[in-house]
Amino acid sequence: MREIHVLNLGAGVQSTCLFLLAREPDAKLRFDIAIFADTGEEPAAVYKHLDYLRSLGHPEIWIRSAGKLGDDLIHGVNSTGQRFASIPAFTAEDHLLRPGSCEHRLPPAPKYGMVRRQCTSEYKIRVIEKAIRREIVGLKPRQWMPKDVKVYQYFGITTDEKQRAERAKRRFEKTPWAIPVYPFLEMGWCRQDCEAWLMDRLPHTVPRSACVFCPYRTNKEWLHLKQSDPDGWERAVEIDHALRQNGTVANRRMTQKLYLHRSCVPLDVVDLGHEKTLFRPMTNECQGMCGV
Ligand code: SF4
Repeated sequence: MREIHVLNLGAGVQSTCLFLLAREPDAKLRFDIAIFADTGEEPAAVYKHLDYLRSLGHPEIWIRSAGKLGDDLIHGVNSTGQRFASIPAFTAEDHLLRPGSCEHRLPPAPKYGMVRRQCTSEYKIRVIEKAIRREIVGLKPRQWMPKDVKVYQYFGITTDEKQRAERAKRRFEKTPWAIPVYPFLEMGWCRQDCEAWLMDRLPHTVPRSACVFCPYRTNKEWLHLKQSDPDGWERAVEIDHALRQNGTVANRRMTQKLYLHRSCVPLDVVDLGHEKTLFRPMTNECQGMCGV
């Protein structure tokens, strides 16, 4: 039986912690490879952090991509030449909301919700699966995974995010050759434990990993992006505008208006001064999965 151990590296706090734990002299964790699925739209600090991790030498980090997500949103063509993958933009129009959207129930803006998210699957999950199947195992497109190959995929999901692990487990039911592993759930570590462990081990703070225009953001996080990464902020404003250009692919060829900010106000004019709702962003990082 061939066993392959792959870290889904989101480059945020938890997966960085897993990456560094595997480098400890008495490490129980071992990764053959760490894969970062790059949407091409991360904040500058995330790419800098990745450069630092790569400079450590091992485990080896692969950066793989299905294309630049924002460009595909604007121009409507993705890496496979098919229709674009939508991001979880906000709308105030009820008929576009995801069924059961929790945003739909949050006070005091019960009308607002998110449209369906496809970007995680296309720009994260499939990118990592493709790298494993084609580059690590050497399969051709649509070739079956040999029965004697088992791939262990490691995720930096902590005890404060058990629901994410449950959702991921359900997804893995469709890929019996891959086994999800959650070391922090076994270790009983929460995000704060990771932060504490990382404290003296890095020369910088681990940045939050997510596309600069990802709508899963609190006002505080939007403000931080605006102040710390002007190019990233400008890109987010560009994508926000593109979402509302009538007839463009980015707004799903709908006449309805989509927004990056949950208040359904254009990003460049919205008041980011204080939080007005109980909105919970995707708290941590993509880890090859975004919030799933
Ligand atoms: S970070 Fe947000 S926008 Fe980017 S792929 Fe993940 S869910 Fe989509």
